[in-house]
Amino acid sequence: MKNKKKTVEAHNLHVKRGDRVIMTSGKDKGKTGNVKKVIKSENKIIVEGLNMVTKAQRPNPMAGIQGGLNKIEAPVDSSKVMLYCMACEKATRVKREIVDGKKVRVCKKCGQQIDA
Ligand SMILES: [Zn+2]
Repeated sequence: MKNKKKTVEAHNLHVKRGDRVIMTSGKDKGKTGNVKKVIKSENKIIVEGLNMVTKAQRPNPMAGIQGGLNKIEAPVDSSKVMLYCMACEKATRVKREIVDGKKVRVCKKCGQQIDA
């Protein structure tokens, strides 16, 4: 038996790397952070400084890694975050507009472009 990793159907997430998002559930609910990484195949994202978990790190002197407990960001489901608009300082949804032939995302609440 091969140990096949279960994958969910990948679709375009509503957030992308570099976006400011706000957590809508969990222990970091209401906190904002920047998207560090998007894991499309799992519909998950890693948000800088949020959803921290403590992970034991084995020392590996060859690689210059010190052992101990490290705090790292755990992936969160993309459904648990909303895009955060820095212009109106609210969690928001975006609409897409074409500006100068380019697709841009715009805050539905204040009309500010998300992709600057
Ligand atoms: Zn806004």
